[in-house]
Amino acid sequence: MGEPIVRYENVHKSFGAVEVLKGINLDLKQAEKVAVIGPSGSGKTTIIRMLMTLEEPTSGEIIVDGKNLWHMEKNGQLVPANEKHLRQVRGDIGMVFQHFNLFPHMTILENCMTAPIHVQKEDKKSAKERSIEMLEKVGLGDKLGNYPSQLSGGQKQRVAMARALVMRPKIMLFDEVTSALDPELVEEVLEVIRDIAHEGRMAMVLVTHEMEFARDIADRVLFLDGGVIAEQGSPEEVFGNSENKRLESFLRRFR
Ligand code: ADP
Repeated sequence: MGEPIVRYENVHKSFGAVEVLKGINLDLKQAEKVAVIGPSGSGKTTIIRMLMTLEEPTSGEIIVDGKNLWHMEKNGQLVPANEKHLRQVRGDIGMVFQHFNLFPHMTILENCMTAPIHVQKEDKKSAKERSIEMLEKVGLGDKLGNYPSQLSGGQKQRVAMARALVMRPKIMLFDEVTSALDPELVEEVLEVIRDIAHEGRMAMVLVTHEMEFARDIADRVLFLDGGVIAEQGSPEEVFGNSENKRLESFLRRFR
């Protein structure tokens, strides 16, 4: 699989006096699928928000494509290391959130087209073609002119995925994308992620409470607890681990 495309080295993150992450070390390899599990409030979202540069670490290094995202000033403050690289990183990463964050006043086709046109400066025709292709891929080819308010939660989440895919990311981040959905809509969204995962090209980091799903598609599972990666390994190793009592008690809730 070659060099990691993302590396966290001893990353700490505090909010005020509370240290949420206490030294995260993590490599993400090309095309690797990593599931992050752990109790609520353990810092799972914070880990992926830092990769999207929505949050800066308090200390440590996050290296993407061999380049550091943050640089320590003499006063100890971390500042963006290189604006150009940061822009590129943001362009290489697609993120899908728990809440879909679609633009309500735009049709779903327009929702998908807007970033390629305005951020990547792509011409309208090819942005439109690719947006249609991605909406078809997530099973919404017949809803192009609909507004988000006319769709179910599962459909909205599939639009959010198409919108991220249109940007041709190298890495996709999924943050509890099914948590806000009615139970009967969960499977249709997981199915789309499975399809994307099986295509294989993109690296993926999935924060999820869907343990069966994580077992199914992840190459590696990380259990975040107490501010550190308390366990990691293949799905078989992590889900079959009965030595770590905290992991076992966490998993018991999903059985
Ligand atoms: P998880 O995704 O595992 O539920 P989060 O990464 O969302 O955990 O949050 C970890 C901890 O950090 C929580 O206690 C949360 O309240 C706190 N936290 C997250 N973001 C902020 C913020 N912007 N300001 C203050 N506290 C925050």
